[in-house]
Amino acid sequence: MGRGLNISFAHRQNRSLLLRLILQHPKISRAKLAEMTQLTPASVSNITGILIKERYVHEIGALDEIRSAGRRSIGLEISNGNHFTIAVHMQRQHASIGIGNLDGSVTHQSHIAIPDHPNPQDVARDIANVIKTKMRNVPGEQVLGVGVGTSGIVDTEAGMIYAALAYEWQQVPWASLLASTTGLPVVVDNNARAMALGEMLFGGMAKSEWLAFLFAGQGIGLGVLADGKMFSGGHGIGGELGHLTINWKGESCWCGNVGCLETYLNQSRIESILGVGRGETINTSLKNLYQRGAYYDVVDLVATALVGIVNIFNPRIIVLGGWLADAWAQIETDVRNTIKSRTRFWNDPPVAIRPSILGEEVGLQGANAVALGRWIYGLGPRSYDDQLEESPVNP
Ligand SMILES: [Zn+2]
Repeated sequence: MGRGLNISFAHRQNRSLLLRLILQHPKISRAKLAEMTQLTPASVSNITGILIKERYVHEIGALDEIRSAGRRSIGLEISNGNHFTIAVHMQRQHASIGIGNLDGSVTHQSHIAIPDHPNPQDVARDIANVIKTKMRNVPGEQVLGVGVGTSGIVDTEAGMIYAALAYEWQQVPWASLLASTTGLPVVVDNNARAMALGEMLFGGMAKSEWLAFLFAGQGIGLGVLADGKMFSGGHGIGGELGHLTINWKGESCWCGNVGCLETYLNQSRIESILGVGRGETINTSLKNLYQRGAYYDVVDLVATALVGIVNIFNPRIIVLGGWLADAWAQIETDVRNTIKSRTRFWNDPPVAIRPSILGEEVGLQGANAVALGRWIYGLGPRSYDDQLEESPVNP
């Protein structure tokens, strides 16, 4: 169904768009912003004036670009240090927590253990205790809210973790649980989607709004940005490539399906295919087994996942995370050749594939991106009016 644009909504959307462009193009001039957004120069000046006053943005002196009458343009940059998020990255046995900045960086990082079979209330309490200590470093009124990237199948709009194998959780209303223990607004998304957002906002991917992030750890996650919007499906849990059947006579998966990609491409299974021994890694094994049977089994599995992404979502770039990011250099040439042979009609232009440049930071930066996407950069799933009511700081 279509939705009309109220003037206040349009203003906020323009504001978020300008903030995002200033983030992705540091030192950009007002003239360039007007050219890129097709907004009038007066509108750009008006909105950037408000953003400077509210300390989201600052000017950085004269640029080489010449404005009218021979005057030099003034550049704009995102301001750190005035508005913050709390970023929470939840993995199988631990959670990382830090203070997120508008430019994506996450400071004051710390880590807590998550035990086996954890109780959601206990985990929420442990995370809330860490957040309380972090909040001593920043004025409370400057904290927008908490962004969470977590293992599991997540409906971000409902704030619900439907199922997380790592914790054996089902139907956990994680956003409301963490909000009630911290007293802060909370937005939660699946880790891979969070990482996709992080790559788009902070990974130098300004021109790639058709992006897929494939994370391969003990689980397989996929985050897809389609025209800059998160693809989440009609019920919020779309894009679960890990649970696509690649062998209809295969083993049962924890999700209820059979022969899921995740049952073949998870880290333990790959280690077992390669016979990774003590003191070895997937990388060293791939090197030792170069172009032998098990090596090609891994190449085939990785290519199967990537061909699926190319055929279904047709992204311009696929970014890799987890063990796959580490192993990519070892298998890249053979995987690319396999993809090429299996996607005969999709070769031009070829999809770019590369490991995440955010590296180890991608989890926390992704969690930060989930919060900033909703409250600052206009990438959340819901209307701006709904989002703004949740946040103590109105962007
Ligand atoms: Zn499955």
